[in-house]
Amino acid sequence: MAWSERRRAMLEEMGLRVWQPALAVPAATVTAPRAADLQAPVAAAAAGAVVAPPRLAAESAPRVPAANAPQPVLQPVLQSVQPAQPSRPSQPALPAADVAALDWGALRAAVAGCRACALCEGRRQTVFGVGHPQAHWMIVGEAPGEQEDATGEPFVGPAGQLLDSMLAALGLARLAEGDPARRVFIANTLKCRPPGNRNPQPEEMQRCEPFLVRQIQLVRPRIVLAMGRFAVQALLRSSEPVGRLRGRVHRYEGVPLVVTYHPAYLLRNLPDKARAWEDLCLAADVVEREAAR
Ligand code: SF4
Repeated sequence: MAWSERRRAMLEEMGLRVWQPALAVPAATVTAPRAADLQAPVAAAAAGAVVAPPRLAAESAPRVPAANAPQPVLQPVLQSVQPAQPSRPSQPALPAADVAALDWGALRAAVAGCRACALCEGRRQTVFGVGHPQAHWMIVGEAPGEQEDATGEPFVGPAGQLLDSMLAALGLARLAEGDPARRVFIANTLKCRPPGNRNPQPEEMQRCEPFLVRQIQLVRPRIVLAMGRFAVQALLRSSEPVGRLRGRVHRYEGVPLVVTYHPAYLLRNLPDKARAWEDLCLAADVVEREAAR
C-alpha cells in the first residue's frame, strides 16, 4: 500500500519517519525495502534497523525495573504475574451487580472510596479515567504508575505523550469535545497503583474489573483499544501475547476491540511503533465502517 502524504504526516506526529527512496544517498549504500516491508515501513527508519518479526512477549508496559523485568511467554493468566504478595481487601468489594447500576457520578465516587484490595493502602489517589463520557473511542491501559498516582490521570509522562501523539495522528484528543468520533475515554484496568509498579495480580484485577466494565457500558464506545497484556487479559480473558492478538478485530460484549502495544513498551521497542500504527489504522477503519452502517 502506498503511503499517502496524509499518512506520512500522521506518522511524523507519532515520531516516525517513513522510508522513501533516498535520492541524495548513493544507491550502493541503500537496501531497497521488500514489498512486504512497504506495509510497515516506518520503524526501520526510526530505529535504524530492519523491521523485526512479530514479538511473542513483553509487549506490555514496563511495570518493573527493566533489568529485572520478567518476560513471560504463553503463560496462563494466573502464572504470568509477579510472585504474589499479600493483597488482602480492606473491605468487601461492591457486588458487580451493584456497580453495574451506577451512573457516572456514583461510579466515580465508588472508585474514589474503594478499599476492595490492598492497593488502596499505598495509593495517593485513585485514577478513574479521563476523556469524554460519550466517546466513540475507548482506550484501556493497565495500571497507574507513579506519575498517574500523583496526578490522578491515566497515561501521563512519556508514555502518555506518545499516546497523545498517536491519538492526534488520528484526529483524536483526550479532552476533545464536539464530534463524538473525535472523542476518547481513557481508563486503566486497575484504578490504583501497584507498589513499585509491579505487575497487577489476578485478585486485584478481579476486584477492580466491575469498574472498568461499567465504564465501558457507560461510554458505549464504537471501538475499544486494549493496550498491553493486562488490558488484554482483563477484556479478552487471554494470556496470548499481544503480538499474536493484534492485527485483527476481537469483540468485547459486542463492541469491536483491537489489541495493540502499550505506549510504554513502544518507547523501548521502536520497531513495533509501525505495528501499533497499523493497529490504530485498523481501529479507525472499524469505526468508519460502523459509522457507515
Ligand atoms: S485497585 Fe480497584 S479494587 Fe483495588 S482498591 Fe483500587 S479501585 Fe478498589
